[in-house]
Amino acid sequence: MRQSEHFPDSVTVIEVGPRDGFQNVKGEIPTEEKVKIINLLATSGLKRIEATSFTHPKWIPQLKDAAEVIRCINRGSDVVFSALIPNEKGLDRAIENGVEEVVFVVSASDALNRENFNQSTAESLAELAAISPKAKRNGVRLRGAIAASFGCPLEGSVAVERVIDVAKAFQKAEVCEVSLADTTGMAHPLQVRDLLCRLFAEFSDLPLALHFHDTRRIGLVNVYSAWQIGARIFESSIAGLGGCPYAPGAPGNVATESLVYMFHRIGVETGVDLESLMECSRITKEVVGGIDPDRCHG
Ligand SMILES: [Zn+2]
Repeated sequence: MRQSEHFPDSVTVIEVGPRDGFQNVKGEIPTEEKVKIINLLATSGLKRIEATSFTHPKWIPQLKDAAEVIRCINRGSDVVFSALIPNEKGLDRAIENGVEEVVFVVSASDALNRENFNQSTAESLAELAAISPKAKRNGVRLRGAIAASFGCPLEGSVAVERVIDVAKAFQKAEVCEVSLADTTGMAHPLQVRDLLCRLFAEFSDLPLALHFHDTRRIGLVNVYSAWQIGARIFESSIAGLGGCPYAPGAPGNVATESLVYMFHRIGVETGVDLESLMECSRITKEVVGGIDPDRCHG
């Protein structure tokens, strides 16, 4: 039961709606609306927010305003704003724009890595060898994320050993934390328990975060399962924004407000003010719902 020695019991919530959520919204969300929502999230007590992604606009047109978003959000607070990067080019843009933390994603499934990043998992990991020292030289904190940790829509089940191999590469690259992503919402609670037992035993010094999608409406059950095993860092999305390109119309990430509500009800602190969060959720639904009504499930 590692990563659970806090007293009183508490968890860290990482808000990923402005990245994972927005990127799945059809129709352009105006930059100023994104900035407004991110600033509101930052006032609700969330201390970590994934604000955008430095991915080529050709792949994710919705986030083509990444630099502008980073420039316009209120960064004077004690909130860490991160940006996702798919490759070294993304890191260069993040550095240029003064991002303090980047999240480098590698898929445990080769097929999904090729589909999303146009190169094999091994090639992405080779790129990590260049990304890590460059991030360090520029004072940028590097996190790792492992896509398809709980299964792949193209390959089916993904062997635990492949998740461990990618995590080992991240550890060698001295990332501060690794996020295990259930990219398309294939995880179930017993699988979560088994995978985490293996990973906690293998990586006792590496903080592990969990990123669940609610594609099949059991995202929160998976969160609870992970928490019981000792996980204390969770990623979620305001209003349950997000989606799954392999399951059109499916719900997105676990909703931040549901996750915070559950933890508060079982006596676990999040540091987040639920009332402010509900207001953020309402405003997010209003903004996004006007553009893409299918994308609000929170
Ligand atoms: Zn995701």
